[in-house]
Amino acid sequence: MKTASPRLTLSQLRPGDALTDADLDAGASPTVRELSESLRFSPGDGRIWLEDQRMLLLRASTYGMLRRELIASTGQAQARSLFTRVGYSAGARDAGLVRRNWPDGNPANAFEAGPRMHALSGMVRPQTLRFEFDIARGEFHSEHLWFDSVEDDEHIAAFGIGTEPACWMLVGYASGYASAFMGKRVLFREVECRSMGHELCRIVGKPADQWDDAEEDLRFFEPEASAQDVRRRLQVAARPELPEAVTQAEREGEPIGISAAFSAARHLIERVAPTTATVLFTGASGVGKELFARTLHRISPRHGQPFVALNCAAIPDSLIEAELFGVERGAFTGANASRPGRFERAQRGTLFLDEVASLSLVAQGKLLRALQERVIERVGGTREIAVDVRVVAASNVDLRQEVAAGRFREDLLFRLNVFPIQLPPLKERRDDIPLLMEAFLRRYGALHGRRVPGFTPRAVRTLVQYEFPGNVRELQNLVERAVILANPDEPIDVHHLFRSGEAPGPGLGLDESGRLTTAAQPQTPKPATDANKARYAQVLQDARYNVAEAARVLGLTRPQMAYRLRKLGLL
Ligand SMILES: [Zn+2]
Repeated sequence: MKTASPRLTLSQLRPGDALTDADLDAGASPTVRELSESLRFSPGDGRIWLEDQRMLLLRASTYGMLRRELIASTGQAQARSLFTRVGYSAGARDAGLVRRNWPDGNPANAFEAGPRMHALSGMVRPQTLRFEFDIARGEFHSEHLWFDSVEDDEHIAAFGIGTEPACWMLVGYASGYASAFMGKRVLFREVECRSMGHELCRIVGKPADQWDDAEEDLRFFEPEASAQDVRRRLQVAARPELPEAVTQAEREGEPIGISAAFSAARHLIERVAPTTATVLFTGASGVGKELFARTLHRISPRHGQPFVALNCAAIPDSLIEAELFGVERGAFTGANASRPGRFERAQRGTLFLDEVASLSLVAQGKLLRALQERVIERVGGTREIAVDVRVVAASNVDLRQEVAAGRFREDLLFRLNVFPIQLPPLKERRDDIPLLMEAFLRRYGALHGRRVPGFTPRAVRTLVQYEFPGNVRELQNLVERAVILANPDEPIDVHHLFRSGEAPGPGLGLDESGRLTTAAQPQTPKPATDANKARYAQVLQDARYNVAEAARVLGLTRPQMAYRLRKLGLL
């Protein structure tokens, strides 16, 4: 078995010891300092980020109250199961985060980040007693002490000393973290716990198949409830399934998001899709109005019929009526043949009219008639043509203001505004940015034939905090530009995304003493000579941005190299 080499880590400090700068940088990446640097406070928009994950600053007493209420309402076994699963999920996620951002050759370093994350999150102070593993052979054995677990504090305050361990979320986290790394179920068990009267908590982790009575604990790891289960239990209608004919490519063309603002808009679309109601999308430029309109059509009963889109602002006033309603031969000079307009081409389907505010007042009158009477007349024609078309309109200007200014018919506004859906700007759905980044990276990597491995942590941090005045379209353009600019196999960095002068301002990070600071980088880079920086940059580029390899070239350890690169602003 491999044994993690002994070195000073946070876990070996004694109670009462203060952390020094050396401790923060001690051990291999990710160090406590590196993990701290991944934390960003963004109070301007009510967000805290750990890399691309949204975090929450919660009072320990609030956590304690949540715990008490759950125990009281569901019983101790249910509450324990719930907290264990929640912890497990968090541990598995953090394992993914550490792997993504510190893809180091030595998994022992990554394993050690688990306890460091626990310490950083304020849950507990861990100390490692024993730590052995062999991923290939599936062997794992570790033993840790836990000081001052917040779960014990809250549990003892509420219930006093009992007969069962109480560090449920912590045990779940340790199990989830180790399981994600080992690729097999690793079970941690709290063999001593302050809530049982012991002086400290002691946990032991082994593969589940090596515990004699694993079932006893595994019942706390029942699979997490899916949103579908919850809806079934609450008897809420399931979201409509997409028609099977929808190809994977089309599915990827759907709006992407999980944020509350996105889900609210998506929910409205799902509610209105089965009807024939006219829908009006509003929202800033670049929020994806046409994409949402296409989705509305795709999940509507009209999905087998045409979806016809027209950007009203792109057609000159003199041609808009012919474009919308068609034209009869000889109607005007140049009309050599009769042809149908967009309304007829959208027969039985959906007609999407973007930037509807730019229609002339005459065209607005004809559109109103088509909506009210479901008939149109071609330009130069005398025959009424019945149309069965669902109109979906969109505007990035306030139509009420247009009405007030005399540029838009009030009766048409009322007719269009049957079911308004406001689409949120990207800065109000920041939780979707990491998903969108991944989707655009895949899309443009394939389109341009580029193999781009991903984004640097710095690029992720920058994008999740950026204001995005141009919304999703701007993010899409930034990623496409970066995919084209980045060298093969090189991760996308800030300079691929933003030209100088475009780059966004700083958020709040932790400085060396753990206080929040507005500095662009939490640690102020020491002044470095340009020559020095250029040399490191060159070595890094030659090593194809593999930090471990660049470190070998310079005779440094990987952590030393990573530390210097960060100081130079290269990582
Ligand atoms: Zn405990």
